[in-house]
Amino acid sequence: MITIIPDIHGRVFWKKAVDPASKDDTIVFLGDYLDMYWVDSIVHDITNESTLENFREILEFKKSNPERVVLLLGNHDCEYMYSRNVCDCRCDRKNYDIIQSLFRDNWKLFRMAWETTIRGRRYVFSHAGLSIEWMNEHVEGWDENNLVERLNALYEESMSLSNPESSSFAEALSEMDTYRCGEGTLGSPIWQDAENAARGDKMSGITQVVGHTKCKDRYPIRKAGYWFLDCDGGQWFTLTDHGGLRDKDGLVVRKNENPFNPPGKEIIDTNCFGHYFCRNCGSERIYIRAGMYVDTYVCLDCGTKIHA
Ligand SMILES: [Zn+2]
Repeated sequence: MITIIPDIHGRVFWKKAVDPASKDDTIVFLGDYLDMYWVDSIVHDITNESTLENFREILEFKKSNPERVVLLLGNHDCEYMYSRNVCDCRCDRKNYDIIQSLFRDNWKLFRMAWETTIRGRRYVFSHAGLSIEWMNEHVEGWDENNLVERLNALYEESMSLSNPESSSFAEALSEMDTYRCGEGTLGSPIWQDAENAARGDKMSGITQVVGHTKCKDRYPIRKAGYWFLDCDGGQWFTLTDHGGLRDKDGLVVRKNENPFNPPGKEIIDTNCFGHYFCRNCGSERIYIRAGMYVDTYVCLDCGTKIHA
């Protein structure tokens, strides 16, 4: 069984996900260990200092379990591993040098992608997904058999340079698609948005398991050969020995064909950041209209629009 832990951002839910009794299980972290959400600093008392401490604990956990723990890199990690040219979003500027040293001193503990095969199907894990277009542009000699190996080799090459931040790989990683306010259609494996991923060509026989794009409620999205698992509220998942996806309560996660930006999606109850309710009439019947960085919540009872 494989335990999948989506984006951390200073949260400690991973400790609950890690079952000390299951010594044979693999645990895959999908990256983004730092750069807390402001709302977590209010609701869950997460601070830059606790986020840094949490990251240190994850590094120690990996060191104590080198074979069974996989640490992938996200955009909020490459921001420190390489430079803020790759990502400059909610960066901890005060502790930047300390965090950068932690990443660079431990770079061998990380990788860009990881894969496993279950019942003949391949599962490729990365922070945001490997698009055919981006791989064609930046990864020489790749094909569907060697994609993980080639990508990790480029990472290793870049980290063996004296200035990893000025490597062509760092530059390639900084590519953002238009859904993330970038300039083109290419989204790197740490930046690709789910909307872009879902529109791109699919790799046959491969399920890509990714975080990065926040699913706007508790439910992950299975679409276009991807499993998007970064659900608010500290969800984690397991990939069973039969290739099934289960949530943290052991419930089967079924295929979900909902589009990413539905015209309106009802949320009656959510554990996202506490509880949504209308500021005007107090109703909990709130529709969420998901946007890139700004969601609009619409009260079904009085029609008030709330931007969050
Ligand atoms: Zn991310």
